[in-house]
Amino acid sequence: MNRINLLSQRLANQIAAGEVVERPASVAKELLENSLDAGADRIEIDLEQGGVKLLRVKDNGSGIVKDDLALALSRHATSKITNLEDLESIGSLGFRGEALASISSVSRLAMMSRSDSDEEDNGWKVQVEGQNMNAKVEPIAHPRGTTVEVRDLFFNTPARKKFLKTEKTEFTRIDEIVKRIALSRFDVQFSLQHNQRSIHKLLPAKSEQEQQRRVALVCGPAFVENSVYIDVERAGLRLWGWVSLPTFSRSQADLQCFYVNGRIIRDKLVTHAVKQAYRDVLFHGRHPAYVLYLELDPAIVDVNVHPTKHEVRFRDSRLVHDFLFSSLHKALAEVTPKDQMTGETSNPNIKIVDLPSSENKQAKAFVFQSPLSLQEASPPPYQVDPHSAGGSLASVQDQLAVLAKLSSDNEEVPPLGYAVAQIHGIYILAQNKEGLIIVDMHAAHERITYERMKLACENEELKMQPLLVPLSIAVSQAEADCAEEQQQVLLKLGIELERVSAEAIVIRQVPSILKDSNIEQMVRDVLSDVLEYGSSDRIQSHQDALLSTMACHGSVRANRHLTIPEMNALLRDMEATERSGQCNHGRPTWVYQSLDELDKLFLRGQ
Ligand code: ADP
Ligand code: MG
Repeated sequence: MNRINLLSQRLANQIAAGEVVERPASVAKELLENSLDAGADRIEIDLEQGGVKLLRVKDNGSGIVKDDLALALSRHATSKITNLEDLESIGSLGFRGEALASISSVSRLAMMSRSDSDEEDNGWKVQVEGQNMNAKVEPIAHPRGTTVEVRDLFFNTPARKKFLKTEKTEFTRIDEIVKRIALSRFDVQFSLQHNQRSIHKLLPAKSEQEQQRRVALVCGPAFVENSVYIDVERAGLRLWGWVSLPTFSRSQADLQCFYVNGRIIRDKLVTHAVKQAYRDVLFHGRHPAYVLYLELDPAIVDVNVHPTKHEVRFRDSRLVHDFLFSSLHKALAEVTPKDQMTGETSNPNIKIVDLPSSENKQAKAFVFQSPLSLQEASPPPYQVDPHSAGGSLASVQDQLAVLAKLSSDNEEVPPLGYAVAQIHGIYILAQNKEGLIIVDMHAAHERITYERMKLACENEELKMQPLLVPLSIAVSQAEADCAEEQQQVLLKLGIELERVSAEAIVIRQVPSILKDSNIEQMVRDVLSDVLEYGSSDRIQSHQDALLSTMACHGSVRANRHLTIPEMNALLRDMEATERSGQCNHGRPTWVYQSLDELDKLFLRGQ
């Protein structure tokens, strides 16, 4: 064994750098955070060769006084906290006092700065050299603010350098960080240059509209057009931002930005709460997109849990989880067809909705959504069309009556309009004042039934209806065991049954909303679900899934003939039902195309 000796400053810093300086993007993050902490409202980022050759961040913040310059580059030196109490409610992004020391130990770093308090000076430059990282300060001309220049990252740590990817990849990662940070501070102007080429210039965004534009620039316009703006405040917690409508989901969890008091966070608790909020409405295996800001008292969140400060710990994690879940769940439930259609479609092209790939091709010519704000959302009027008699094609008379309504200025036409016909036994065609609506009647009915059952289940008043003739079905022994064990659970789902032999059960009552469906099939499906999901406490959490199965079987199947009044009633039900824009599996229940868009399809007026 060797004798023990004290590591040199540089080596100690290089070891610490292992945790925080993984690649150029981590350098960018630390420098940008420092500029924001210094109160800058204009930040310029300059890169060469993916930030490896040069990464320069210039800000117009407070600057650093001459006497502090050397300290700024030493480890355990910070202006952001002074004692343990400060650590318990951190308002700044940085506080560990090690970023600059770490970065300067693995690169050639120079910092130029001028603060307001050094009135006579033009500015100062600091660099460190040698194993002990001695600081050298010299005068230089610099405007108020700070510039940090990081050259030749990892030039002295070849092992780290080997892990760097191509210039393009490293650049993309920095770009990603810049964009995410830009979304955390709408009031700050950011510009990014790479190899002398200007990549972005994001002007300060003051109004909600300008903020929305920045979000569109960073996340793509489709995200903004297909999302809901929310702003909820409760018990000292505030959640605001944009969440995608379920019909705009992604195959990867790549468009998810979450900020806690302005800090970018990746947190399991947050991901879980959001996922749960979308559970009912998102197509299996798809991911929601969101840009969300959580604001809370800094004292109830611990930010000092990870060197890169990407994670936090909430003091009351249950409270935060519930708040996130319930706010988002409610927001998604409140999206009505009317919301989804308000506003003009700004994009002259037909928008492509990012749907699960199998659906993609059929549905992409249609627009589902446009920007909307929940505050403006009000439930649409629920009314049954007084016109139209039986038949699955509207009679000439009906059509005339509907046309009169559509063209009249004083008639309130419901958002999903009036049914015109049923086609291929699957779709309902309807028209409203502005265009054409196509409804997948099974998907729509399924959602309505499901929401009703959930509501009834919640209120424990799922009405049951005794069967005139109890239905006896042959099942496997395992299914019969399960039916017997889970009798109470099934009863809560509205199914009363009894085991009559080793391999037979008798059904006595079923939910009255499902009385007309194929009861035997439904009970079999429910039993197999119960079997698959195992123990009874897991059933509780899968109750929705069971209800969904039941709703699916209880809903109008394809090829069932619907009369025009039935179709209209379905449309009105959809308008009044929560989450009616998606079926239980997250597929859209309706699509809409405005007259303008129809005109474009036929090159009318061009
Ligand atoms: P931390 O941010 O955790 O305090 P850093 O090593 O990142 O640690 O920075 C050390 C100190 O240098 C900061 O506390 C701050 O006082 C000062 N500093 C760094 N960057 C800037 C800047 N862009 N403008 C003003 N002061 C800065
Ligand atoms: Mg810092």
